[in-house]
Amino acid sequence: MNTVFAPFPVATLAVLGIPQGFPVRRIFCVGRNYADHAREMGAIDQAEGREPPFFFSKPGDAVRGGEGEISVAYPPQTGNLHHEVEMVVALGAGGANVGVEAANALIFGYAVGLDLTRRDMQARAKEKSHPWDMSKGFDQSAVVGPICPAASCGHPLTGRIWLTVNGELRQSGDLSAMMWTVPEIIANLSTLVRLEAGDLIYTGTPAGVGPLVRGDVLEAGVDGVGTLHARIV
Ligand code: MN
Repeated sequence: MNTVFAPFPVATLAVLGIPQGFPVRRIFCVGRNYADHAREMGAIDQAEGREPPFFFSKPGDAVRGGEGEISVAYPPQTGNLHHEVEMVVALGAGGANVGVEAANALIFGYAVGLDLTRRDMQARAKEKSHPWDMSKGFDQSAVVGPICPAASCGHPLTGRIWLTVNGELRQSGDLSAMMWTVPEIIANLSTLVRLEAGDLIYTGTPAGVGPLVRGDVLEAGVDGVGTLHARIV
């Protein structure tokens, strides 16, 4: 069918080692997946077993990718923009009610990402039990470095995840500290929505989140996956 205006382009991400891009469909994010971050946010640390994972979303076109230094616009309506470094899972296949043991087969690759957050707006939303959409899903809020295909980097379960701002270490953790592993996250999320190729999943951030200002230069990395370079403008 003809459309009333030209269909908008699909956002794509760079893939290491191949010329083809990765088309982004949806962006899902896991909340509080590292206990040290849950504690710093004042969330209760459950001593008796894990709470089920919970998810929020960003629009697919909130993605901001690139191979070199990625420039990211400081968003309006906040005075407390926070960085959250996360490992991002990029799906190359879909499915519903996927078993934990079958989950890795859906994964195309992994990348280093930033779940940028309007922390002041999120705090007000939490107070009033309002939705998080505008504190999490604003333009350029989902920064992602190049995707490393699982065919080359495997499926990392351990490895350092870190972030520096202007050369100062702000976040440092290990993938092994995730409360829900990547296969468990995929299995759980696939009971809520049918996952599809092109979906991205942000897997949570370790402790050390903090504010950013215009001009800040960020370097982030996940061992075995790659690095991310960004500048707030
Ligand atoms: Mn996050």
